[in-house]
Amino acid sequence: MTELAGLLRIRVAVEAPQHSGLSGPLDYLSERALAPGSLVRVPLGRRELMGIVWPGESEGQVEASMLRPILAELEGLQPLSAAWCQLLEFAASYYQRSIGELALAVLPPQLRELDSAQLRARLKKLDKFLATPADASAPAPARPTLNPAQQQVLDELDALLNAARDRAPAPVLLYGITGSGKTEVYLRAAEHALAQGRQVLVLVPEINLTPQLEARFAERFGGLQADGAAGHRIVSLHSALTPAQRLRNWLAAHMGEADLVLGTRLAVFASMPRLGLIVVDEEHDPSYKQQDGARYSARDLAIYRAHQEKIPVILGSATPSLESWQKANEGRYKRLLLPGRIGGGALPRVRLFDMKRLPLSKGVTTALTAPLLEALRQRLARGEQSLIFLNRRGYAPVLHCAECNWKSDCPHCSAWRVFHKGDRTLRCHHCGFTERVPSACPTCGNQDIAPLGRGTERLEEQLQEQLPGARVLRIDADSSKHKGELEAQLAAVHSGEVDILVGTQMVTKGHDFRRITLVAAVNPDGALFSSDFRAPERLFALLMQAGGRAGRDAEAAARSEMWVQTWHPEHALYKSLQSHDFEAFAKSQLAERESAGLPPFAHLALLRAEARTVEAALGFLKAASAFAQALPEARGTLIYPAIPMSVARVANVERLQMLVEAGSRGDLQRLLWHWMPELHLLKREHKGVLRWAVDVDPLAI
Ligand code: ADP
Ligand code: ZN
Ligand code: ZN
Repeated sequence: MTELAGLLRIRVAVEAPQHSGLSGPLDYLSERALAPGSLVRVPLGRRELMGIVWPGESEGQVEASMLRPILAELEGLQPLSAAWCQLLEFAASYYQRSIGELALAVLPPQLRELDSAQLRARLKKLDKFLATPADASAPAPARPTLNPAQQQVLDELDALLNAARDRAPAPVLLYGITGSGKTEVYLRAAEHALAQGRQVLVLVPEINLTPQLEARFAERFGGLQADGAAGHRIVSLHSALTPAQRLRNWLAAHMGEADLVLGTRLAVFASMPRLGLIVVDEEHDPSYKQQDGARYSARDLAIYRAHQEKIPVILGSATPSLESWQKANEGRYKRLLLPGRIGGGALPRVRLFDMKRLPLSKGVTTALTAPLLEALRQRLARGEQSLIFLNRRGYAPVLHCAECNWKSDCPHCSAWRVFHKGDRTLRCHHCGFTERVPSACPTCGNQDIAPLGRGTERLEEQLQEQLPGARVLRIDADSSKHKGELEAQLAAVHSGEVDILVGTQMVTKGHDFRRITLVAAVNPDGALFSSDFRAPERLFALLMQAGGRAGRDAEAAARSEMWVQTWHPEHALYKSLQSHDFEAFAKSQLAERESAGLPPFAHLALLRAEARTVEAALGFLKAASAFAQALPEARGTLIYPAIPMSVARVANVERLQMLVEAGSRGDLQRLLWHWMPELHLLKREHKGVLRWAVDVDPLAI
C-alpha cells in the first residue's frame, strides 16, 4: 500500500487470463486500508470480478490517475493468511501461472460469486451446521495397541519433531506395504497435532477413497473423546461435492472450525489457520498431479507448505515415487519403515505365467488361459473371491475387417475407436466421437468384421461363458458413470455378492476387500516397452497395489496368489514383483534413470502447442526454441526438438511437445522465468496456434 492524494494504492490478485500476460497482482485505489488476504470486488476491463488484496508493496508503475477503484470488500470473512498467499505465490511462479488465476481458481467457486449479504447468510447456515455435533454421544472406540514397528515409527517421528523445534522437520517417507498399519500411524500423528490444538490436512489420490478414510478418521476423532471432550469436526474437500458443500467445508476449515480436512489434490490449497500436520497417502499416485490449467503437484506443494509452516509432513506408500525414494536415499527425507502386515499376514505368492509356453490351439485366448480358469474354479469352489485386472475398458480396442484391412479408426484423432458391445457403439476415448457399430465393413461391405484384442467388457463376457453360475462384476469408468454406482458395486463386493471382480486400475486402489485370494493381471506387458520412462514405475506400483488386494485376511493369506500372465517372465520388473522387492526395483530403476539423465537426476518441463496443422504447431515451437537458445539464462539446460505427442491428433487438433531438460531445478526455473513471458507475445505472431502450455515436472512424457 502506498499513499497518494488521500487514496491508497493497493495490490489485488485478479483472475486475468494468462494470455493477457498480466502475471502479477494489479494496482487499484482504495479510500481505506484493507488487510492483505481480504476478498474484494474490482473492475477489470468491462467485467467486475473477485480479487484478493495481495501482500507486499505495489511496484507502482502505472500512473495513479490511470488506476481504478476497488468496488467493495467482502465483509465478515477472516482474511487469507500471509502463509496461504505465499503458498499461492510460490505455486504460481513454479508452475508458470499468473498469481490471480491460480489463487482464484483454488477458492470454492461459490465464494467468488457472493456479496457481503449473501456471505452473511452462508455463515449463519454454517453456524447451524457446526452446532449439530458430528456424532453426538457415541464414544470413540478404543485405539489398538501399536505394534513394535508402529511404536518405533512414532518414536522417531517424535524425535524428529523435538529435534526440529524452530526449523522445519524433514519430510517423512513412511514406507510400508498395504496393511502394514500406515493409516494407524497417520491417526496417531493426527491425534498428537489435534491435542496441541492444531489442524490436520490429509490428502488422498482419489475421490473414491475419501469416504473410506473419512469413516476411519470420524470413528477415531468424530465421537466423544476418551477425556470427555467433544468430537472433532472433520470435513472433506474434493470436486464431487456440490458447490454449496464445498463452500461450507472450505469455510469451516478457513475459520478454524474444522480440525481435520480430508481431500484430493485441490485440498492442498485449503486455508487452514492452525495447520499442524499434513499427510499425503499413496504419495506416488499420479492423480496428485493436475493435468490441465495450472499443472501442479499436490504432493510437492504439500512438502513446500509443510516446510514453510515448519510442520511435519508424512508421505505414505508401499511403492514410493522414485523422486521421494531418492530424496530419502540422499537423507533429505526421513525414511521410516513398517516392515510387515498387521497380524503377520503374508503377501500373496506371485506366479509369473509364461505366455510363450501356452499351447497354441484354437480357442485359446491370451487373457483367460486354461490354468487361470482352473485357479478361478478353485476359488469358486471354496467360496473365495478373485480379482482380474485389465487396464483397458470397452469390449475390444479396435474392430477389423479381414477382407480389406479396414480398422475402426477415429476420423478426428490418430487413435482407434473402441468397440463397446453393451450399447453397440464405436467410441473414441480421446474426443468422444461415437457411432453405432456398422453391421458390415464400411469400405468393402464384408459382413464379418471382428473385434481385435480385448477390454474389460469382453473379459467379463468370456468369464460368464466359461464359468457359468459365477457372479461376475465389472468395475471401470463405463460401469460407474452415474453417481452412486461405484459405491453400490463396491458394497456388493464387500458383502460377498460377487465371486469375480473384473476391472481397470480403478479396482486396484485402496479398497479393503477381505475375501479376495486371487489377483490376476492378464495383460500387463505393454508398459514394459512404453516410450514413457515412468511406465515401469507405474506398472510396478499398480501390480503391487493390485496384489495388496489379496490376502488382507490373515487366515486366507497363506493361500493367496497373484497371477501375472506375461510374455516376458524373465523381465527384472516381474522378478522384483515376485520377491515383493520394491527396494531392488527402485535401485535398478534409479540406476537406469541416472545413467540416462532422467528425473530425479534431471529436471524436466514440457512445452506443448496445439494447432489445426502440424506446421503451425511446429513453427511456434521452433521459434520458441530458437528464442530460448539465445537467452543467457538457457545455460545448463537442453531443449530437444519438438515431436508429436503419443496421440498426435485429437478432435482434429495436432498436438506437439518439446522437452526441456536441466541439471537443477534452479536452472530450469531461471530459463522458464525469462522464456515464458515471451511466448505470450510469440503466440500473437503464430496465428495458427490454438493453445500452448507448459508442464513443469511433467508426469507423462
Ligand atoms: P495400511 O494403511 O498400511 O494399509 P492400516 O493402518 O489400514 O494399514 O492397517 C491394516 C489393518 O490393521 C486395519 O484394519 C487396521 O485397523 C489394523 N491395525 C492397524 N494397526 C493395528 C494395531 N496396532 N493393532 C491391531 N490392528 C491394527
Ligand atoms: Zn472391409
Ligand atoms: Zn477421436
